Amino acid sequence: MGEEKKSVLRVHSYAELAHRREESGGLYQPDAAEEQPIIRLDLVENILNLCRANSLWPMTFGLACCAIEMMCLGMARFDMSRYGAEVFRPSPRQCDLMIVAGTVNRKMAPALITLYEQMAAPKWVIAMGNCAISGGPFAVRENYNVVEGVDRLIPVDVHVPGCPPRPEGLLEGILKLQEKMTGTRYPFPQFKPPR
Ligand code: SF4
Repeated sequence: MGEEKKSVLRVHSYAELAHRREESGGLYQPDAAEEQPIIRLDLVENILNLCRANSLWPMTFGLACCAIEMMCLGMARFDMSRYGAEVFRPSPRQCDLMIVAGTVNRKMAPALITLYEQMAAPKWVIAMGNCAISGGPFAVRENYNVVEGVDRLIPVDVHVPGCPPRPEGLLEGILKLQEKMTGTRYPFPQFKPPR
């Protein structure tokens, strides 16, 4: 076999990373250089990141009670469309953001990984709620079927703690993700009384 070709595009070969991680018993950490594209145009990259950050397409994917708070965020009171992230898509191929909202059990884990792998790259993950972060109230010795943190399965970009986190908490998570993507924190709109 010849040397493995690196993609010019930032295509995230997660399937391969997941395989290596499984083979190493979860200890494999990808080399930062491995994830970098060969050609890098900073200005283009910055513009693309700004566009990506302000037009996130989350997946319609809720696992438990936290999903209700995620749905609230899409409704009029919290209105996540103010940040361009309201277009929930039913197909992972049209999504670039997975919000893991709820308890991940071992039976669900393979399906979750498959969905993540089917998402378009580049892609991001928010672990919403204590269950997605660490198993939450179900992480007890007697409970054999809960995955204690979705970051054991897929890479997580932002953790939003709480049981459940309020919609404002998830909104803060989305703003944090935008900051991570662009390197800039955009100010939260403040209420200004009319003059
Ligand atoms: S963190 Fe709490 S609210 Fe969220 S899924 Fe777990 S038990 Fe439900």
